[in-house]
Amino acid sequence: MALSQNGWKAGTPEEIGGLDTSKVAGVGFPQGVRRGPAAVVLHYLLYQLHTRVEPLRAGWCWGYHYKRIEGSDDLSNHASATAVDYNAPDHPMGKRNTFSAAQRAEIRRILAELDDVVRWGGDYEGRPDDMHFEIVAGVAKVERVAARLTGNPAPTPPSKPGRPAPGPEIPYPLPKRYFFGPESGGDESVSGVHARRFAGHTDRYWIQTWANQLRRRGWPVGQGRRYLTRAGNDGKFGPEYDQLVRAFQRDQALSVDGELGPMTWAAAYRNPIR
Ligand SMILES: [Zn+2]
Repeated sequence: MALSQNGWKAGTPEEIGGLDTSKVAGVGFPQGVRRGPAAVVLHYLLYQLHTRVEPLRAGWCWGYHYKRIEGSDDLSNHASATAVDYNAPDHPMGKRNTFSAAQRAEIRRILAELDDVVRWGGDYEGRPDDMHFEIVAGVAKVERVAARLTGNPAPTPPSKPGRPAPGPEIPYPLPKRYFFGPESGGDESVSGVHARRFAGHTDRYWIQTWANQLRRRGWPVGQGRRYLTRAGNDGKFGPEYDQLVRAFQRDQALSVDGELGPMTWAAAYRNPIR
């Protein structure tokens, strides 16, 4: 018996128990997804993506497809009809950040609502695949999530918009590939320790500016407070800034790497305060 990469049985539509080709939000889904609990979970996912991230585009979404993973001998999860591609032409494989920071945060909230039985290709460590979503849990867990969803068929309302972040937005001051990070991080890691200048100010000034924006968002930042407690907001990127950046990234459902790069920077100015 052939299994797709996630361990689900792959094969012809008959061999895998049939396909569910229901429309989602009025958009036809020609190839369909695996009938049963996988369809419940994937249809919920697609509906939430449609209402909360970006509307489904007819003809741009794909489901079942018997094929191998590009560059691999493993069968794609599309071959077991447990994966979908979402508005594929706008979110091609290999291209990172085809969704905005706010959209990525919403995607991660939706996946959390599904107890993370679905993984998003944009989170792949290697080549990203922003269009791609796939079931990564076994049948029993997917059945449990599906039972919860069908017991409560009303779709989750879009999450509250929250309070807008204080403005105005200050554009990210560093060139491409540069980020604010520890002195040990190489030339592209701008630490505030060497008084380097970018966009008319010192690196230290920019680090302080961003941390101040978190304070304006209500974060307990500064000497004697929860973050930057010892040295305060001195603009020299050490362990205390690392801790603050990671806490904010976790809070915003960004990838948590402790580097203050363009996404983490912009999230402080663009993402609503919840
Ligand atoms: Zn795919």
